[in-house]
Amino acid sequence: MSANQTVQRTYLGIPVSKPKVAFFELSSCEGCQLQIVNNEASLLDFLSLVDVRAFREAMTEKNEDYDIAFIEGSVTRSDEVDRIKTIRERAKVLVAFGSCACFGGVNQLKNRFNDPTWVKKEVYGSHAIETNDIAQPLDAHVKVDLQIFGCPVKKEEVEKIVTNVVLGKAIVQPKYPVCMECKANENTCLYDLGEPCLGPITRGGCDSWCPNNRFGCWGCRGPAVDANIEQMKEIMKKNGFSEETMLDRLECFGGFSQHAGEMRKAIKTKA
Ligand code: SF4
Ligand code: SF4
Ligand code: SF4
Repeated sequence: MSANQTVQRTYLGIPVSKPKVAFFELSSCEGCQLQIVNNEASLLDFLSLVDVRAFREAMTEKNEDYDIAFIEGSVTRSDEVDRIKTIRERAKVLVAFGSCACFGGVNQLKNRFNDPTWVKKEVYGSHAIETNDIAQPLDAHVKVDLQIFGCPVKKEEVEKIVTNVVLGKAIVQPKYPVCMECKANENTCLYDLGEPCLGPITRGGCDSWCPNNRFGCWGCRGPAVDANIEQMKEIMKKNGFSEETMLDRLECFGGFSQHAGEMRKAIKTKA
């Protein structure tokens, strides 16, 4: 793919200026960027909206002049702190792209362990690399203008958000939980099939991606507005699932870290 393959976008016949965008990755699996590249059906339409200046996963050209920086991954190495600060200085808009960037993502699972040296040894063995003791979201180091949630991000949602940026429209993130979308998709509730699911407390916007495929939600998009954790505990208990089952999910992506921390504390106090 080449940056030169893009075509002029018009809206109601009027040429719309294309924002200069760049994609970057910190410590991550690069699955969020892959979502964009894999979206063959609408990739050309997407590229016609923007002027791609850097996107290591998809093109060799690089340009340091960009308006919007999409950053995937969490901060887990000291050199990444300097890197995002430089990107922040250059970009007008900085987007935390995916759950690693928004919450620390799966990388933040290592933060639960008391001994970072042990973690490094278990993970890297004799191939030790220089990493920070904890994994952090971008906003621990720089101002973030916009968050796009999900592990990975949902490509249709990214395109909708970018289209709104280009057309100067407001960006409205869903406040409702995954259950709303799941019900609209007429899925059988996974609790009726004996599976746990965090859909009642997780922010929607993924179109109930996991329940549509008969997997319970693990909360990758973080909490919905007014997420009722106590009610979620009751639902889990009523359906025979332990607090540990719920905690496994709450702790997985980092979006519920505050709730998980409070829950762990309450369990310890009870013991
Ligand atoms: S949010 Fe998930 S898919 Fe995206 S980079 Fe992190 S681990 Fe990979
Ligand atoms: S499967 Fe999950 S998301 Fe769907 S209705 Fe049941 S609890 Fe909600
Ligand atoms: S259903 Fe839950 S875990 Fe699955 S993509 Fe949506 S928010 Fe993430």
